[in-house]
Amino acid sequence: MKENKKILLVHPEISRNKYNFAGVIENEPLELEYISALLKERGFAPEIWDGQVETQPFAERLHEVKPFAVYVCGRTRQENFMKEYCAAAKKAGCITLVGGLHVQLNYKRFFCREIDWILTSFDIFHIADILTGTEPAHSICFRHGGEWIIKAAQPFDIGRLPRPDRSYFYAHTGRYRYLELLPCAHVRSAYCCPYRCSFCCRNKMNCGSYSVRPIEDVVDEIASIDCENIYFIDDDFLFDRRRIERFIALVRERGIRKKYVCYGRADFVAANPGLMRELKDIGFYYVLTGLEAADGRHLKAYNKKTAPQTNAEAVRILNETGINMMGMFIVDLDFRRKDFLAVYKWIRKHDLRHSAISIYTPEMSSEQFSAYRSRLITKDPGQWDYLHVVAKPANMSVKRYYMYYHILVVMLFLRGKKDGIYDFLDYGLYIRSMLKNLFKFGG
Ligand code: SF4
Repeated sequence: MKENKKILLVHPEISRNKYNFAGVIENEPLELEYISALLKERGFAPEIWDGQVETQPFAERLHEVKPFAVYVCGRTRQENFMKEYCAAAKKAGCITLVGGLHVQLNYKRFFCREIDWILTSFDIFHIADILTGTEPAHSICFRHGGEWIIKAAQPFDIGRLPRPDRSYFYAHTGRYRYLELLPCAHVRSAYCCPYRCSFCCRNKMNCGSYSVRPIEDVVDEIASIDCENIYFIDDDFLFDRRRIERFIALVRERGIRKKYVCYGRADFVAANPGLMRELKDIGFYYVLTGLEAADGRHLKAYNKKTAPQTNAEAVRILNETGINMMGMFIVDLDFRRKDFLAVYKWIRKHDLRHSAISIYTPEMSSEQFSAYRSRLITKDPGQWDYLHVVAKPANMSVKRYYMYYHILVVMLFLRGKKDGIYDFLDYGLYIRSMLKNLFKFGG
């Protein structure tokens, strides 16, 4: 009988209600594409199922493909879906594996009967090892005799990754986007982040070890991608000035013309106005910056190592340069009415045209999580999407907090609409959904 070599690689849908970013931001499943490339190289027959873009239900695809193994990844908010898909796969007799950002830091949450293997590092070679019957030496949890065995995680050298197999991306270019940049391909040049902001779990990834790819290799990959928009998904692309200078020189040398999106801190932008002009010149279009707060008190509490003046300077420089800053803010759970208003006023005063607001959410793997444990109002991981209140606000009811949050979001959306920055959206649909949220969550 022919040996079954089929593996289904799964990224679940973000949510099952309309409260998500479908049609606004849809991310290429890059992690699965790396795994797919490696498994093909090793003689397996992997297939990707991404719940963001698939029209065929997972159960149907599982039945059709009949894989011998299923690998599922996802973020905190997708935890329930991940377990549900593993349960279906187990029922169909498959080996089940889970991995990805949430799993790596919260592996104990996946100690359940429907899961066989838990990958706690970025080492995708472990998946190939498991599928060929070899037990990896580290960065893995598995069941043995009714007990879970934990082999501690070790950092992974990002330079070992193969080129991703982008066939799935090319088959869905009508979907993968960042705002108006459609299609938009993801590129990763580093794992982890060298900073230590207290609310963030990204700096704990890869065992807290910052690992970068040679920039020449990154430019080679970009040149080979058949897509004019590139989104660097590194937690902080603008870190090493000399590396960025080399990147600019290589892109110019090779005559690559694309638009770029990346994450970059306000202090880097503020300290490097000349470099930002060069980046604009080679095609940088969006810089996503965690401004986090309109006041110094919260910035200090978050260990952000920046000040409101640095944030203002960064907005000014990018506005002058012509790169769009996407300024990301956190509305803290200690906010009073005036604090919501202060965020709006800061954005207006500094003429920040693109902004995104997250509700403070204690990460499950963080020290903050224990501090907020007694205030939690939900244990549903599906609510860890930065759009829901998961812990009781300090100075008002949950209903009132949602009301101020949604008023802020609607005010910023209307401001953006006036500036024409969301022209690619169906305004009516979004306004209706925002107003519905405002009334649904209360006032
Ligand atoms: S918020 Fe940004 S800069 Fe701070 S640790 Fe996280 S990824 Fe790094």
